[in-house]
Amino acid sequence: MIGEKEILRLAGEIYSEFSINYLIDVKIEVLALDKFLKLAEKIDYVKTIIDGKKIKSLKDSPISILTINGEPYRIVFCKNTVNKISRRLSKQKQKDFIKAITLHELYHILNYESKRELVYNYLFSDKNTLENMKEDWKDFYKILEDNKKKIRL
Ligand SMILES: [Zn+2]
Repeated sequence: MIGEKEILRLAGEIYSEFSINYLIDVKIEVLALDKFLKLAEKIDYVKTIIDGKKIKSLKDSPISILTINGEPYRIVFCKNTVNKISRRLSKQKQKDFIKAITLHELYHILNYESKRELVYNYLFSDKNTLENMKEDWKDFYKILEDNKKKIRL
């Protein structure tokens, strides 16, 4: 079981590496399931997923991380779901998995910011967010690919 402090440490580590190239202001948080669900049900893109019946209920959903727009942006982990999804991975893979989903969210933010032209040093192409992640972080991209059936990002 990866605890809150460890999740924050791993996510913070990859956010620092990411920040070498891209400066975006992000606050990282970890919540337990009940609080995470309360937050998730208020978010528009989660509502869309539920309304579209792409997941049966939020409670059993594989949503383990959320990004919330604002200044700063918030990346919020669900401690329980992250552990549930990654429990069969080796300790090292589990750590990398946490970094990989953090990166995925950071690229969503980057994509959004570049569309608003707030990130000047980012040469935005029409490729989607994940394609950019693939180029910059091949190994982490692969972890997401290998586990994509278990997660919804
Ligand atoms: Zn995503």
